[in-house]
Amino acid sequence: MKSRCEKRGFYFTSINEKADVYVINGCCVTSRAAYETRLLAKKAFQNNKQAKVIVCGCPSYMQREREMLKEIGVHFILGHSYKHEIPDFILRALNGESGVFADEGSKSYVDESVLCRFGNRARAFCKIEEGCNFHCTFCILPMVRGKERSKSIENVLKEIRCLVTSGHKEIVLTGTNIGSYRFGFKKLLKLVEQMDGEFRIRISSIEPVYIDDSLTDILKESKKIVNHMHIPLQSGSERILKLMGRPYRKEDYYDIAWRLSKLGIALGTDVIVGFPTETDEDFEETRAFIENLPLQYAHVFVYSRRENTPAASLKGEVNGRIAKERSRIIRRIIASKNYAFRKSLEGKKVEIITEPTEVLINGKVYRKGVSKEYVSVLVPSSIPPYEKIEVKISHADYSFTFAELSQ
Ligand code: SF4
Repeated sequence: MKSRCEKRGFYFTSINEKADVYVINGCCVTSRAAYETRLLAKKAFQNNKQAKVIVCGCPSYMQREREMLKEIGVHFILGHSYKHEIPDFILRALNGESGVFADEGSKSYVDESVLCRFGNRARAFCKIEEGCNFHCTFCILPMVRGKERSKSIENVLKEIRCLVTSGHKEIVLTGTNIGSYRFGFKKLLKLVEQMDGEFRIRISSIEPVYIDDSLTDILKESKKIVNHMHIPLQSGSERILKLMGRPYRKEDYYDIAWRLSKLGIALGTDVIVGFPTETDEDFEETRAFIENLPLQYAHVFVYSRRENTPAASLKGEVNGRIAKERSRIIRRIIASKNYAFRKSLEGKKVEIITEPTEVLINGKVYRKGVSKEYVSVLVPSSIPPYEKIEVKISHADYSFTFAELSQ
């Protein structure tokens, strides 16, 4: 949306500044995300009472969200396919028009556009598919994003080439459920591997059911794909996994995690605690399971009830205080695993890509870089951004990982 607007000559400010039009790319994967979308809309009006505000994306398909956004005074609420017409909607809003454009058809739109620039970051995101055909009972995404549809191989390769040519050093392949890429995810990886250029590829998040021997072989042999994967677990309780409609058993996950770890691949995951009916015993099963996984990090969520999902009608809601305590317990385990992982890198050489982001710690300015293992590494600020360099990890403490140029 940003690059389409730039091409039409729009000038950008941040959400904290006064603007004529605010465009919010909304989210509703959890009730918190939907709330934050509404909060941003309110903030836009606080910055400029006369502003035109447009909210795009998933919240537009949820009636309750639409009503609340209208109450706030949002001018246009747009479904996915309308995002590519965003410059026109901005002009229409400025001309006093308003409305909701979120028909069912807009959930089946295939975005074949080729992006050549991803903001000022060194890492660019390349969306290869959208939507999901799975039926995880807690998840609203199939309802608001629609069924799987994929960008053609030709356009994905074109986009990667264009992003690399314009200076991006790492391309992150993303989507709602990228393993289901219609034209063959493994085929795509093999073609990307053959491309010219000094760039890295990161697989954003992939469901466990897609990790098989042939994918592992591709990862093993690849010179471009980084040694990091994000594979959602969601629960370590066999009973809860079943209730969640997740199509694998916990031992499958365990085998995959250790197989990848032995190949030197750093692993991240997602965990949901407080799913309806989750007992102390179920949670203990999850806790013990996570203790035994080779994880670098995890995103831990307290279950968020989403209207019209199968899980929303399950009896046996977990008390909010108990769910939060369970989340704290898992976060503590993950924090110590993450610390141990980063500590194990001390004295080792890693490849990082530096970002424009600078961080001030105890009066000293550092530049942020991201390693192949998906560790945020701080280096002296004299090192310029957008560099792919080798550094030596000098020290990891509980919050940060420091490195110096390797000799
Ligand atoms: S695979 Fe992911 S996006 Fe698809 S239904 Fe499950 S949680 Fe949602």
